[in-house]
Amino acid sequence: MIELITNFECGNGKAIEQLGDAHFRLEVEADKQTGYGSYFCFDLANDGAAVEVTIDVYEDSKFGEPTTFGRVFPTTIWIKPVDFHRYRPLRGQLPECEDGHIRFRVPVEEKQRLRVAETYVAPFTEVAECLEGFALERADRCVRFSLGQSVEGRELVGLRAGTAGKPKVVCVAGQHPHEHGGVWASLGIADFVSSRMPQAERIRNEAEIYVIPIVNPDGNVAGHSAFNAEGLDMYLAFGDEPDAPEPEAHESKLIWAWIRSEMPALWVNFHAFTGWQLNSEYPYHGWYEVEDRNLFSNIAQKRLYDAVCDTLRLTTDAASTHERANVHRANTLCYQMAKRFGIPHAFYELNNGNSGRHAGSRTGIDVFGKVMTTLLTHG
Ligand SMILES: [Zn+2]
Repeated sequence: MIELITNFECGNGKAIEQLGDAHFRLEVEADKQTGYGSYFCFDLANDGAAVEVTIDVYEDSKFGEPTTFGRVFPTTIWIKPVDFHRYRPLRGQLPECEDGHIRFRVPVEEKQRLRVAETYVAPFTEVAECLEGFALERADRCVRFSLGQSVEGRELVGLRAGTAGKPKVVCVAGQHPHEHGGVWASLGIADFVSSRMPQAERIRNEAEIYVIPIVNPDGNVAGHSAFNAEGLDMYLAFGDEPDAPEPEAHESKLIWAWIRSEMPALWVNFHAFTGWQLNSEYPYHGWYEVEDRNLFSNIAQKRLYDAVCDTLRLTTDAASTHERANVHRANTLCYQMAKRFGIPHAFYELNNGNSGRHAGSRTGIDVFGKVMTTLLTHG
């Protein structure tokens, strides 16, 4: 017998129906109709002989007309036995969307419980354990810290490295919880800045780095695609009121309070999107900027922002769909930090389809190293 299960950390799938001995249908649980309605993560528990299971995944029916799958698929489907240490791509299949659903076949071995996901999943528990491990093993180079607790009481846990009194740089990911490629990028930076690499040592001498790889732990654990536990989007943090004194979500308020008190020299934010974008170049990464650089009233901060934007424009592996920077709107943290405090940002978007634990981490370290060079050497 085969069972399809979604009630675990980062699981996402509902309306599960077994259509045959080895055939299931399910819907994703989406947060928004467009862009945040394709994430799934489920287990196939097989207590019998090896079998190939056919899976039909549908868009969330609560939104009526399907819109998301056609933009996202084809993309890599990631699989792993639940206790195995890494995901691998599902061999030979990049399913295309047809009528708001995709179909693929998953080989499941005898007595195996296999995890199947739309991303190379970065569970909060695993990421937090990793940070605790760095803090324990590298106590001479880094410490664990927390921005506070989420709505459901989880720590916004991070790693701090570097020299007090030097320019502060804060690096976050996971505002949109299913954008796991960005979380791997950020965790890679935590590993790098606390490592023995001479470049990391130089950064520790010349700056103070704070890395928080999952700023929306409740959303991560619940398997949300865009929201926190309050149903709020932490990227569009100010909602319909860009000039409000504080952002909407509880966890965004924690970030905002920290930013106001610490006034970092640079804010680095990783996101990810999903899909082999057929109108662009591999590896379909991208970056975002504010359109109006005059938001920076301080000339030195504006020049630094120009330099950071040039760094991303000239060194990003390949642009996503736009062949240029995407634009932050006025209700984002990036925009309001620029406008109110003159804090520049580096905002980078990886592709979940090719950014797993190692590749995502490598990209994160690469981007971070380049923007840190820009920060520490700009005139
Ligand atoms: Zn995002």
